[in-house]
Amino acid sequence: MRLELLTIGTELLLGHTVDTNSAELGRSLAGAGVQVVRRSTVPDEPEAIRAAADEALRRTRAVLTTGGLGPTADDITKRVIADLFSRPMVYHPEIWESLVERFARFGRVPSEKNRGQAEVPDGATILPNRWGTAPGLWLEGAPGLAILLPGVPSEMRGLLQHEVLPRLVERAGGRVVRSRVLRTTGVPESSLAEAVGEVEQGIAPLSLAYLPGVFGVDLRITAWGLPPEEAEERLAGALELLRSRAGRWIYADDEVDLAAVVLVRARERGLRLATAESCTGGGVGRRLTAIPGSSEVYLGGVIAYDNRAKTELLGVDPSVFNREGAVSEAVARQMAEEVVRRLHADLGVAVTGIAGPGGGSEEKPVGLVHFAIAGRGGTTAWQQVFPGSREEVRARAEQAGLSGLLGRILGMQ
Ligand code: AMP
Ligand code: MG
Repeated sequence: MRLELLTIGTELLLGHTVDTNSAELGRSLAGAGVQVVRRSTVPDEPEAIRAAADEALRRTRAVLTTGGLGPTADDITKRVIADLFSRPMVYHPEIWESLVERFARFGRVPSEKNRGQAEVPDGATILPNRWGTAPGLWLEGAPGLAILLPGVPSEMRGLLQHEVLPRLVERAGGRVVRSRVLRTTGVPESSLAEAVGEVEQGIAPLSLAYLPGVFGVDLRITAWGLPPEEAEERLAGALELLRSRAGRWIYADDEVDLAAVVLVRARERGLRLATAESCTGGGVGRRLTAIPGSSEVYLGGVIAYDNRAKTELLGVDPSVFNREGAVSEAVARQMAEEVVRRLHADLGVAVTGIAGPGGGSEEKPVGLVHFAIAGRGGTTAWQQVFPGSREEVRARAEQAGLSGLLGRILGMQ
C-alpha cells in the first residue's frame, strides 16, 4: 500500500518545531508494509491544507495528516478534509462526554471552545485518543482514504500504534517493508561501492542504499512489500553477500555505535582503556561513557588542550612542541604512552589535530589529525586529514580514534 504524509502547522515551516512526526511515521509505516511515497508540510491555512490533501489523494488515494486537530482557531484540518470528502460535520455527544470526563480527572471543565472537538465529518471512524483530547479520524470515501492524527508527538504515536497500524497491516495483506543496516567506517563511499560491486541484480527485489555520514557509510538494504518470512530470508542472504565483499570495513549491524563495539571487544579480552584527547575535547571519552556498563572497561581520560596542559597532565616534553609542533606524531605518541602509564591501562588512544576553521598551514592543513595507540604490544601512530567543518572534523577524528582502537583490540588474542 502507498500513502502520502501531510504535516500541518505553521510552526513546522518556521522551523520552530522540528517535524519529528514525519520521520517517526516513515519508520513505523514502513514496518507495517506501507510505503510512504511523498511527504509535505503546509501552514495552518485552509486553502493550503485543502490543496495539499487534494493532490495527495489524487496521486496516491491515501493521505495521513498530523496537526490542526486541537480546539483553537488554527485547528482546521477536520473541516477542510470534511469539505474535500463532501461530508457535513456531525456532533458526537459521546466525544463531548469523554472530554468532560477526562477534564474532570484533572479537576477541570472543558471550555465551549473544546466543543468543536466533538464534531467530526459524517461517516468518519473515531479513533479514541487516550493520550490527549483530540480523537484521531479515519475517513474513507470517493477521494480515497484520509487518516487524521493530532500533532502532539506522544498523541500521534499512541494513536498510530494502537489504532492506525493494526488497520493498515490488515490492508497490506501481511506484507512488510523491512530494512537492515551494516555500518562501515574508514572507507570513502566510492571505494566501498567499488568493493561491493554490482549487487543490485543479485539482491533484487531488495534495494541497496549508500548512506554517508561523518561516522562512515551505512549500507541500508530494504525489502519492499514482501511476506515477513521471505523478507527476513532475503535480507539475511543480502547481508551475507555484503559482508563477504565489504567485511573489513563493517563494524556493526543496525544502530550500534562504534564505541559500543569497542567496549564489547575490549571486555572479551579483559582489556582496560584510557584516552588522551586534544582537538576532540573528550569526545572519544564521551562516546565510550555513553554506553551503559562502560566502567568495566574504560578507566578515564585526559583532555589536554593547551601545550602546557599536555606537559602538566601528560608529561609531554616541552621541547617537542618547538621541534615538531603540538599536532605531530611525537606528541600523539607521548600522550598515549603517558595516559596508559598514569591510569594503569592496557591500551590508550591519543588524538591531537587541527579542527579549524583557523590554525592550518600548508604543511599542516585544517583537518590534519595525529593518532597514537600505546600499551600492550607497543605504540603505533598514524595521521589522517579529514574534510568538513570544525564539528565534522572532530566527529570524524573521534570515529577514527575508536576505529584504530578497535583494530588494535581485534589484533590481540
Ligand atoms: P496541533 O495538533 O496542530 O495542535 O499540534 C500541537 C503541537 O504538536 C504543536 O504545537 C507542536 O509543538 C507539535 N507538533 C505538531 N506537528 C508536529 C510534527 N509534525 N512534528 C513534531 N511536533 C509537532
Ligand atoms: Mg497546530
